[in-house]
Amino acid sequence: MLGLNQDSQLLLSTIIEHGATNFGATEVVSHGHGENVRSNYATIAQRAKRLASALKPTEFFGSLAWNTHRHLELFYAITGIGSVLHTANPRLPPAQIAYTINFTGYRTLFIDLDTLALAEQLLPQLETVQEFVIMAPRALMPATTTLPNVTCYEDLIDAGDSDFVWPVFDERTAALLCFTSGTTGAPKGALYSHRGTVLSALSTGGGNGWGLSADDAILAVPGFFHCNGWAIPFFGPMYGAKLVLPGRRADTEWLHGLIVEEGITAGPGVPTIWLGVLEHCRQTGAGLGRLNRLYSGGTAPPAAMMEAYLRDYGVRTIHGWGMTETTSGSTMSFAPCDLPEDEAIATMRTQGKPLYGNEIRIVDEQGAPVPRDGKSPGLLQVRGHWVSGAYFRRPEVAFQSKDGWMETGDIAAIDPDNTLHLLDRAKDMVKSGGEWISSQALEEAAARHPLVMEAGVVAIPHPKWQERPFLVVVMQPGASLSDADMRAHLSELVPKWWLPDGIAFVDELPHGPTGKLAKNVLRDWVAEGRFAGT
Ligand code: ADP
Repeated sequence: MLGLNQDSQLLLSTIIEHGATNFGATEVVSHGHGENVRSNYATIAQRAKRLASALKPTEFFGSLAWNTHRHLELFYAITGIGSVLHTANPRLPPAQIAYTINFTGYRTLFIDLDTLALAEQLLPQLETVQEFVIMAPRALMPATTTLPNVTCYEDLIDAGDSDFVWPVFDERTAALLCFTSGTTGAPKGALYSHRGTVLSALSTGGGNGWGLSADDAILAVPGFFHCNGWAIPFFGPMYGAKLVLPGRRADTEWLHGLIVEEGITAGPGVPTIWLGVLEHCRQTGAGLGRLNRLYSGGTAPPAAMMEAYLRDYGVRTIHGWGMTETTSGSTMSFAPCDLPEDEAIATMRTQGKPLYGNEIRIVDEQGAPVPRDGKSPGLLQVRGHWVSGAYFRRPEVAFQSKDGWMETGDIAAIDPDNTLHLLDRAKDMVKSGGEWISSQALEEAAARHPLVMEAGVVAIPHPKWQERPFLVVVMQPGASLSDADMRAHLSELVPKWWLPDGIAFVDELPHGPTGKLAKNVLRDWVAEGRFAGT
């Protein structure tokens, strides 16, 4: 027997309509190139409708743009008419950006003034794009450009109909397309449906996740082009939270100014950003206004950073694990407010528990279950309502187990209460004498030294042990630290056999397009013989 509830599709258009109707006056503050626009959900929804009515539906549209109010409108306009928005990632190397656009294949690319030069550079490599829409006000449109068939976004808006009614279609229709950052081979596409995107935003934004409400103001640091923008484009109108969109800028002092002036409560991003803000506050004695929680994802945040935010500023870290393939967050560590500080920090250091709609398990190389005892490492698998079942147009890439779980390529241990401890990416683990050393845990231990800013660990070949860890350290500005100091520090924190075979000190470590340590580049540095003892 079927239930008797009304049957309505989980479409993204319902989110912006909800925002416009219930939180119409809630602000969306946008810092595009040369602009500082204060908009709200009523206006965003109306402009999205105008744009939607002015577009001829086709399978795909693309964007190559930073986080602005126009990019937010575009999310809703394109997905609202049943087309798919491919959010090309301007942080990828140009050849990879062109690859993702050509691989998807569409005619119209939306860009902004901060990606104009990049689009001009890409032009000779673009095989299908024939027209460009520049998301800028008329007054700022470029006088000349090498791009053909250029339209001003505001002309489309003006030509549109604000009484447009969102069409209703199957909630399993594809809505958004994001590519992995291609650290292992060519970027692969994750194609998200309306249903998966709505459910992921509902679950990850809720109580044990981001815990969002109309009391919040979110600083949208993660790019809309990465992992569905961590669901931020949907969180705002869904929960009535104010959104502050920083465009392309990510300089610390300016971000700190936004946090204080815009009353930011919720700060998401990779740890590098938040380390910078912390350092700024320490140096200047500045406070953090209404900020009360950080969302750290993409890589394990340094414990020292979480401790400093909590003790000195009362800011909690909600630490999550997810992948491009899991739409946005999959697990999150939620530390209840009444936990004593040391227990709260211990909780924040874990990757937390699956949010409703996702399940996790660990298996060995034969696919047999590994015990959930908090210690035994296994290959992490995940399944759920917003987990990818296949890669976009790459049926030959197998990453699903026979019984329908997604293989993540990560190594993890799971506690009896289902708390996830991510140990490493399988390929980053150091396999010493048949035992695994987690490069991430060793990096974290090194970074706990107060004079260390960042640390990277990669495997170097060893005749007896197959692989041994090699540590590369960036010190705090002006600090001085020796090999022996580092060893003494690590000896307190890790087993003796984990101690690195070599330590090098550098001014800077390589980072990938999402701000994560680029282990592949670091491995190349080691292979090139840049460091003594490798
Ligand atoms: P890409 O694969 O393109 O670098 P993703 O965001 O898809 O970008 O990366 C997902 C991977 O990032 C995960 O498989 C995991 O290895 C790592 N990761 C994500 N969140 C965390 C976390 N909280 N702690 C440790 N590693 C993480």
